Amino acid sequence: MKIICIGRNYSEHAKELGNEIPENPVIFLKPDTAILKGKDFYIPEFSKDIHYELEVVLKISKGGKYILTENAHKHYDEIGLGIDFTARDLQNQLKEKGLPWELAKGFDGSAVVSEFIPKNNFELGQLHFELKKNQQSVQMGNTNRMLFSFDEIIAFVSQYFTLRVGDIIFTGTPKGVAKVEENDHLEGYLEGNKILDVWIC
Ligand code: ZN
Repeated sequence: MKIICIGRNYSEHAKELGNEIPENPVIFLKPDTAILKGKDFYIPEFSKDIHYELEVVLKISKGGKYILTENAHKHYDEIGLGIDFTARDLQNQLKEKGLPWELAKGFDGSAVVSEFIPKNNFELGQLHFELKKNQQSVQMGNTNRMLFSFDEIIAFVSQYFTLRVGDIIFTGTPKGVAKVEENDHLEGYLEGNKILDVWIC
């Protein structure tokens, strides 16, 4: 199983980190060992600036390569929410040196994934999702603000990586990313329903 992530898919978020709006989707991977088990996220010792990034996550239900945008919807049946935990201090050091981001993005526990829900229950182009930190709303997103749609992402990525059943795709975060502290409580809501719960330790 692989975890494919899209960077800078919401322009306000790209801008808040001082990045340009990309012409093509920005892609990176996390190893399967990045999946957080349970609800407790431990801040790793190598970072003093772990950021949350709430994202809509797709689960691939049918494999494929060179998938056309118009057929992409046949390749995923379920969606959920995820948090792409990022060691922002380390990522900035790596970016400055022009090096890959994996250490800042793929560490153990850096991929939090909710339960998955059949996509037919939703209007995928207008999904509202929200992150609350200690009961305060900190990120509010709507998929109508994505630069690249779910189907465009699948078409793009599958030109390079064969998609397999069970692969998951993090589709990018809206603006509002910030640092977590010990004892923070993060809750993710999809269309008003809480489906994600993480405690920072
Ligand atoms: Zn992200």
